[in-house]
Formats: sequence, C-alpha cells, structure tokens
Amino acid sequence: MALVILPDCINCDMCVPECPNDAIAMGAEHYEINVNACTECEGFYDTPQCIPVCPVECIEVLKAV
Ligand code: SF4
Ligand code: SF4
Repeated sequence: MALVILPDCINCDMCVPECPNDAIAMGAEHYEINVNACTECEGFYDTPQCIPVCPVECIEVLKAV
C-alpha cells in the first residue's frame, strides 16, 4: 500500500521532511510519492506522517488497480 499526491498539490514542500523513507520528491508538475518507497510509514509511525501536514489535503491512499 502506498499513498498518492493529487494534482491539487501546491508544491509547498511541507510533506517532504516528514517522510521517513524519503519517498516524496518533486515530479513533473507537483510533488509525487514513490510508490515503491512509501510504506504508509509502517515501521516508523502508526499513521502516515505526510497526510496531516498537507495544507490542502491532497494526499490520499492509493487505491489498488
Ligand atoms: S505515508 Fe509515510 S512513507 Fe509514505 S510518503 Fe507519506 S510520510 Fe512517506
Ligand atoms: S504538503 Fe501537500 S501541498 Fe505541500 S508539497 Fe506535500 S502534497 Fe503538496
């Protein structure tokens, strides 16, 4: 399971230092989460740390396809 950043992202950079896996980086148009690196913070925290710091609430759980 991983999280995804929606296009609503305003590139504020707030989520980047919260990630224990360095899974968040600037993409082509907005910040993106590397789905291969994101563990939903498992092993570090009980809950995803990036979600509550996002001022526009654009980080969501990636739905399985
Ligand atoms: S849920 Fe945790 S591991 Fe995944 S991107 Fe957010 S801070 Fe990083
Ligand atoms: S905290 Fe939210 S708006 Fe800011 S860079 Fe991260 S995903 Fe984008």
